[in-house]
Amino acid sequence: MTTIAATRAPGAALLATERLSKSYAGADGELPVLAGIDLTIRQGEIVALLGRSGSGKSTLLRCLAGLIPPSTGTVTYHGTELTGPNPGTAMVFQTFALLPWLTVQQNVELGLEARGIPPRQRTAAALQAIDLIGLDGFESAYPKELSGGMRQRVGFARALVVEPDVLLMDEPFSALDVLTAENLRGELVELWDSGQFPTQAIVLVTHSIEEAVLLADRILVLDSRPGTIRTELAVTLPRPRLRDTKDFEALVDAVYAVMTGRERGTTTPTAVPRRTLANTPLPPAGVDGLSGLAEILAQHPEQIDLGDLADELGLEVKHLLPLVDALELLGFATADARGVVLTDTGVEFAAADVQTSKQLFAAASDHVPLVRTIVTSLHRTQDGTLRAGFFRDLLAHDYTDEQIATQLGVATDWGRYAELYSYDTLSEEYQLDPAQRVTAP
Ligand code: ADP
Ligand code: MG
Repeated sequence: MTTIAATRAPGAALLATERLSKSYAGADGELPVLAGIDLTIRQGEIVALLGRSGSGKSTLLRCLAGLIPPSTGTVTYHGTELTGPNPGTAMVFQTFALLPWLTVQQNVELGLEARGIPPRQRTAAALQAIDLIGLDGFESAYPKELSGGMRQRVGFARALVVEPDVLLMDEPFSALDVLTAENLRGELVELWDSGQFPTQAIVLVTHSIEEAVLLADRILVLDSRPGTIRTELAVTLPRPRLRDTKDFEALVDAVYAVMTGRERGTTTPTAVPRRTLANTPLPPAGVDGLSGLAEILAQHPEQIDLGDLADELGLEVKHLLPLVDALELLGFATADARGVVLTDTGVEFAAADVQTSKQLFAAASDHVPLVRTIVTSLHRTQDGTLRAGFFRDLLAHDYTDEQIATQLGVATDWGRYAELYSYDTLSEEYQLDPAQRVTAP
């Protein structure tokens, strides 16, 4: 396997996009997913694409791999425009589709077979990749005998065995348990730094700020709907990087600030776009979780840093983000680069008894598009009931099936708690709460 020099000054451009835009055909016309993406991946760098779920990260990665064509704009590899699969890339996915009837060795060889490499060379190259990625001794094991971490190693080996110029990774650690993920990340960095890594650049898609700061030389923060590059940040911390250092934390905070769009630290109200179903996905946060967080925040009358709060609770910041987003969406909290604090209504909500808490929640939900849509739609029916399919169709314009399931799950939880409507799982029907029927909006 070829290795590249350990000196990694930003080198020649390998992969680039120019004014790349991508739309998907939806029921309502074109749904723009990416708009005007300009990026260049250079020899010797690890670039993280960081963005929330639905910001188009996977779509961008698929365009770079040449698996889907851009709607407008170009992807070039070594200066040549792609018209099909990119010969210089290989992909690692969140979970890897390993063929259960093939051994580790055979699974790794698959990629080479597809590229027409003769059997003997395949065997040698696969053994080398297996060795590199720490799968030594597992060559003849079958996927079902492997732990999640080992299976993901096979995924890495299968991508690395073709010695791609650019390794593309789509949330490769997010299906693994925390310790396994941390271990694999560490090994990856070690290999990269030792110069043994058989690729010249890595593009890592992630929604974890810490993961991006831990691994990348450059972080591109994507905005959602449509996905654009909001900011680019260079990470110059030496590797291996330690999470609990001032510099690391400062950088995580800075990226968080960029992601929440308040990097300038101003309080000037900027024009807030009207909330719609499409631009306001519900964060995956249950009522219990967000109420619990509100109670904890009530003990911090001053703004508290999210990192400190996560430490206090023994959680990671990424686990708090959906809850914080939910509190913000409901108007119960405000968050910025310096931290999160309850609003007056939030303080009231945290201290309220169950009935008052439900009333405050119902009033706050009026600003939540999906909950509001469900309530007003139910009001417009004769009998105050509607099938879930109706809302699925509404959401299908802007969300995938998986996202729709999450969106409706959260809206059901919130609406039930607020006593706005109930949901019957068997008949898949929403029903307006009787109390709501007399007080039509
Ligand atoms: P991310 O990886 O950042 O979560 P994706 O690239 O998977 O985002 O998706 C971005 C948006 O594009 C989502 O709103 C999703 O619904 C939409 N989308 C993705 N793939 C398709 C597709 N094949 N057809 C229609 N819409 C899609
Ligand atoms: Mg994705």
